Amino acid sequence: MKTNNLGYPRIGNNRELKKACESYWAGKISIEELTATGKNIRKQNWQLQQNAGIDLIPSNDFSFYDQVLDLSLTVGAIPSRYEEISKTNSSTDLYFAMARGAQKNGQDVVAMEMTKWFDTNYHYIVPEFTKNQEFKLFSEKIIDEFKEANDLGIKTKPVLIGPVSYLLLGKEKEEGFHRIDLIGRLLLVYFDILEKLQNENVEYIQFDEPFLALNLTDQERNAITYVYNAINKRFPKIKLILANYFDCFGENLATVLALPVDTIHLDLVRCKLQLDDIIESGKLLSHVNLSLGVIDGRNIWKNDFKNSLALIKKATDAFGANRILIAPSCSLIHSPCDLDLESNDATLTPEIKQWFAFAKQKINEVVVLKQLAYNEINTTNSLHFQENIIANENRKSSKLIHNDTVKNRVASITTNDDNRQNPFSIRREKQIEVLKLPLFPTTTIGSFPQTIEVRSWRAKFKKGELTQQQYDDLLKKETEETIRFQEESGIDVLVHGEFERNDMVEYFGEQLEGFTFTKNGWVQSYGSRCVKPPIIYGDVSRPNPMTVKWAQFAQSLTPKWVKGMLTGPVTILQWSFVRNDQARSETCTQIALAIRDEVMDLEKAGIKIIQIDEPAIREGLPLRKEEWSNYLDWAIKAFRISASGVQDDTQIHTHMCYSEFNDIIQNIADMDADVITIECSRSQMELLDAFANFKYPNEIGPGVYDIHSPRVPAKEEMVKLLEKASAVIPIDQLWVNPDCGLKTRHWDETKKALIEMVAAAKQMRIAV
Ligand code: GLN
Ligand code: ZN
Repeated sequence: MKTNNLGYPRIGNNRELKKACESYWAGKISIEELTATGKNIRKQNWQLQQNAGIDLIPSNDFSFYDQVLDLSLTVGAIPSRYEEISKTNSSTDLYFAMARGAQKNGQDVVAMEMTKWFDTNYHYIVPEFTKNQEFKLFSEKIIDEFKEANDLGIKTKPVLIGPVSYLLLGKEKEEGFHRIDLIGRLLLVYFDILEKLQNENVEYIQFDEPFLALNLTDQERNAITYVYNAINKRFPKIKLILANYFDCFGENLATVLALPVDTIHLDLVRCKLQLDDIIESGKLLSHVNLSLGVIDGRNIWKNDFKNSLALIKKATDAFGANRILIAPSCSLIHSPCDLDLESNDATLTPEIKQWFAFAKQKINEVVVLKQLAYNEINTTNSLHFQENIIANENRKSSKLIHNDTVKNRVASITTNDDNRQNPFSIRREKQIEVLKLPLFPTTTIGSFPQTIEVRSWRAKFKKGELTQQQYDDLLKKETEETIRFQEESGIDVLVHGEFERNDMVEYFGEQLEGFTFTKNGWVQSYGSRCVKPPIIYGDVSRPNPMTVKWAQFAQSLTPKWVKGMLTGPVTILQWSFVRNDQARSETCTQIALAIRDEVMDLEKAGIKIIQIDEPAIREGLPLRKEEWSNYLDWAIKAFRISASGVQDDTQIHTHMCYSEFNDIIQNIADMDADVITIECSRSQMELLDAFANFKYPNEIGPGVYDIHSPRVPAKEEMVKLLEKASAVIPIDQLWVNPDCGLKTRHWDETKKALIEMVAAAKQMRIAV
């Protein structure tokens, strides 16, 4: 029996990689210093795993920006627009130009696109392919890092994304071919890589083919068969580990079980029954080993050793211990680095902390599980085992987690709770009467610029350098100025600006029961950007109003409507580490009830328009289509529960960022928000087509300008977009707003853009 790891966090315990990259980009450190930082992180990671007792330690899991971009460079898939840059710059600068764009020395090229890595919050750089795409071994990173570890006396297992998944992760940049057609040409470069690694005496190589967890076409499945047979034929001595994660193999299982590979890795956290399926099928080839991903690489919970040992026993009984490897479910880049770096505080108490395991702790769990399963140590006198049992037992019964009032409330939800009193057509009449808004009403999505100053107040307040009173006074002043600006510029529905919020999820998490936070629990989101997700550990409830004070204050300043601003239950769930001791739907419903309480309190305080942001609904969709409808049922219901307590004439808005709506438009309509604002300007209103074709019945605000850019759009541009929108949506359903919140923008561009936006709306009104 062996221990196996698929990948280790590369950001460094104290985000050293972020700091080094950003300093390098700012010209503050040399390329040598940057390289040294990378080398140091790799060394620490390898040694940590070696000391812990991991047999198969990954290499090439390190990356300065993203592992998919690394591979694009490795196989020479470099879009032609970077040709100039590649001639005049180092390969590192070429690499960063592809990741971030480059604008210096007269050169000006845009970055490659970025998108989410499956259903995680990690973003990768999307490969670009042309019809005559050529591949060649361009970067030898994977070989260099293998040698680098060798020099330290550590024989690693290089990991890379398999050729089928690599192609599927990318995009065709011209018509007339499918990227999977490129497989033959691409495979030749993989041969070159394998050849070189073989010359270095590599023993194991891990190929990640996470697309095996998705619904594949026959052509794609055949490509898998073709590729792994071809590799095996040419390199029969290399032990190939085929890794799948994030969901089951599903209908791809038969294909996978027929492959001539050394080991198949299973994600038994996301797909518990996969092992049974394989045992029952009787189709595991006698020379193939199984890597059991029993430790959750995507969450922060301590493993349940009893459960894992039962799974391992099942596998060893069926196949023999020497064919079994123990592993985390997926790469640990989705886990924070080290729980030992967290000091105890008021919310992260020792009782709560004992339930957690971060990457370093998970590595130890892998090793201890093997020792226990292999009888190297005995459960009765293993301290690790006893401690694990106690922590898990304690979690099952802890009063910190279980709140009967919340559980009962969820259990007694009825259909009344997720339905507004009347259908939209009736609500609409009442809202028109009360709100008295013009045609093409203007609004914003919520946040206004979070200046360095505003951030510094929060930092000072947290350090105790500002009193609550001083901090609140500063925020009030900022809010008042923002209200005045919106009044002067003629915006119809105002917002308070969200200056009191650090982050749209953390702000709510901090005020809800059942949440805790880490000081150093960073996880890479993209490039040098890391996030620190809140942790939902217990039943969620809302002890006190969370936003009423600010909404009420802002409303008191103006006779115009001020919109209350909340984050929705699905988004709070999606952007947190969530409980694994109950269904996601259950946790989401609890959050929905807490948000519902807030909505009701806002209404009571006289707020007539309330926005519940749900930008994460679309990204929460499961990987396999057969699971979509179940997810959408509970997710949409959670939103409805949060929104449905109010009177007919209280207007509920929701907001969603850049999403394809086509295949979920019925579900979006089922949310039954009175108004939805969406991101639309970058697609030139194309995203609106889904709503138009569906004849979306409620009101809609397609974003008319891109908030990701400092560029100020002219009135005429926005009029054009609004005319486009008016051509497909009845004008009395249309709102006018930017694409998203303005917190990353500066004040002067924000003011100019909003003044132009209001002018555009006015012009549209005159035209009718
Ligand atoms: N109300 C939030 C804001 O304006 C919405 C952010 C988002 O959709 N990502 O910042
Ligand atoms: Zn948004």
